[in-house]
Amino acid sequence: MVTAEELTARREEIAAAPDLAALLAHLTERAAPLLVRLPPIPETKALLSTDGGICPEDGAAFVFDPWNPTAHRCPRCEKTFTGERHDRHWARYQHLWLAERAAHLATLAALADNAAAADRAVEILRAYTRTYWGYANQDNVLGPSRLFFSTYLESIWIGNFLAAAALLRACGRLEKVAAGAVSGVAEEAANLIGEFDEGFSTVRPGTTQRWLRSPAGSRTKTSPSAPSRVPPGCSSICCAASDGTGCGTRGRTTICSRCAGY
Ligand SMILES: [Zn+2]
Repeated sequence: MVTAEELTARREEIAAAPDLAALLAHLTERAAPLLVRLPPIPETKALLSTDGGICPEDGAAFVFDPWNPTAHRCPRCEKTFTGERHDRHWARYQHLWLAERAAHLATLAALADNAAAADRAVEILRAYTRTYWGYANQDNVLGPSRLFFSTYLESIWIGNFLAAAALLRACGRLEKVAAGAVSGVAEEAANLIGEFDEGFSTVRPGTTQRWLRSPAGSRTKTSPSAPSRVPPGCSSICCAASDGTGCGTRGRTTICSRCAGY
């Protein structure tokens, strides 16, 4: 976890380095629309479907617009479409985008003493502490999740959510009540993620349990030294669902030697 002393040191480094100062200015500029108004918080959890987010006339993927939850524009035919399945496809990206923006805004609060950014970051966190419990842990595809259909996506989301909270707390911008509510969400997300055995992928870098080894890691079932079930030479998730005896994801991954003949 970052400390107030580390933030002070980082602020001094930024002040002394023109490239870092320019980067901070760029982040500040990009955050400007977020300070004007709170982006919409999705009312539903994300849904993975074959037709959500896809133009029914030409099959093009809609343009993601974080400011418009119900009107979805096709970049090919330029028409706009509505519908619940499109909205829930949009929610997938919006949940992830909002958690990233919370971390983005909290960074400005911590490194630039930006009070408006701090307030908006807290507002996003607070919104999720209220709505998180209303997203049902059902209709999942790849493990338990409240916001998504995938434990992996939920872990990415909670990573940014907690990064924002940690930065705000370190710079004294996260009041006690909000910190308690954030901890409640983190605990629930860690329980959901920690109960899901990802198989061999738990020992691979970048996967869900690796996220959990950082801020909310107390619920992690595996450890960095856990033995891998990956056959030698496999560099993909192809064995995940079947422990090396089959492969359900050949189209998207590199196939290990053990699975190649299946
Ligand atoms: Zn179209």
